[in-house]
Amino acid sequence: MMSKNQQLFERSQKLIPGGVNSPVRAFRSVGGTPVFFKRGLGAYVWDEDDNQYVDYVGSWGPMILGHAHPEVIEAVREAAGNSLSFGAPTARELEMAELLIKLVPSMEQVRLVSSGTEATMSAIRLARGFTGRSKIVKFEGCYHGHADALLVKAGSGALTFGQPSSAGVPPEVAAHTITLSYNDIAGVEELFATIGSEIACVIVEPVAGNMNLIAPAPGFLQALRAQCSQRGAVLIFDEVMTGFRVALGGAQGLYGITPDLTTLGKVIGGGLPVGAFGGRRDIMQCLAPVGPVYQAGTLSGNPVAVAAGLTTLKLVQQAGFYDRLTARTAQFVDGLKQVAKEKGVTFSAQSVGGMFGVYFSEQAPSSYAEVMQSDKDAFNRFFHAMLENGVYLAPSAFEAGFVSAMHGDAEIEKTLDAARRAFGA
Ligand code: PMP
Repeated sequence: MMSKNQQLFERSQKLIPGGVNSPVRAFRSVGGTPVFFKRGLGAYVWDEDDNQYVDYVGSWGPMILGHAHPEVIEAVREAAGNSLSFGAPTARELEMAELLIKLVPSMEQVRLVSSGTEATMSAIRLARGFTGRSKIVKFEGCYHGHADALLVKAGSGALTFGQPSSAGVPPEVAAHTITLSYNDIAGVEELFATIGSEIACVIVEPVAGNMNLIAPAPGFLQALRAQCSQRGAVLIFDEVMTGFRVALGGAQGLYGITPDLTTLGKVIGGGLPVGAFGGRRDIMQCLAPVGPVYQAGTLSGNPVAVAAGLTTLKLVQQAGFYDRLTARTAQFVDGLKQVAKEKGVTFSAQSVGGMFGVYFSEQAPSSYAEVMQSDKDAFNRFFHAMLENGVYLAPSAFEAGFVSAMHGDAEIEKTLDAARRAFGA
């Protein structure tokens, strides 16, 4: 007898490419049948076969308050009752802008969009419009959404043009994107020394979370700041994942670096589609209708989505919220390391705020090349053993994990018990 999950996946593969609306959901990396979810509450989610899991994906970051938080749900109900959309200014989106600017001081002005992809794509266009330059710099293994210019992998040498990493991206589009190695300060300095005056912007995940988790090496973010300032390039921190996840002020607050532009998403929508980009007033003033850089959106600042985001942002400001989340996440990864050690498994793990990485290697990696050397098969076996024991991890060895404020001692214990069985097998 096929499970409900299997039946749904059979059907969905006929109608939706790969059966999913975003590739990693298909379990291609770990194998097996993706889980179809029907309900979530706090730290738990339930699938269509009524299996319960402790959730460490949290919709890839947004669910920092856990699932179906009563205050967020109430705010959404209340907003929805007053219409789902106007396509016109609202007082609530202004309140959201005020809050974002207060909590992320590098943002003097902000504009709301509906996804992280839109935020980064718009920030890149804005940086190019502001500087009048074409070249953009990104880092291997960092993901900034699926806009053409950002779906680019490294060329054969640091100073060669990028290659598209997706079909459908013309080489001419990728040619303006230069890809360097994460944490490679010398590579950045060399590039700026050579073509610094042609670079519109550097975009970086200040803690990389799309190649498992990689923390910035001491001095790396500082070097980006210094080089961009010297050469008049715009420094963009893509905090779609790290914003309101690693600390209240994001990674820029945690590490004390002021970018020129910041992109946000995930947590600021609390589970509904909200993204944002903002930064220096002189740069933001280049945006239409006041400036020449075009950017727009039918559902931008959507009242229901903003209600969810605003309520989420109010709740994460409670005293001690990030201290507790950071401590809980650290306690969790320490527990995992301890269990792996007991079972004699080669394993490491680390966390920054409420995000974590687990690696089947001796040490936490510091670059994409190092991540690629970790034992992917071991991760896949671990993933499935955890799933069978009621723990839902990201279905890929190359994604960060997320802990919510609803993950308490009971949930951590349950997870460590599952890990004991998984590592044992
Ligand atoms: N930037 C970063 C750092 C991300 O992690 C993501 C999504 N995982 C994006 C941009 C794209 O956001 P979205 O999926 O909302 O388009």
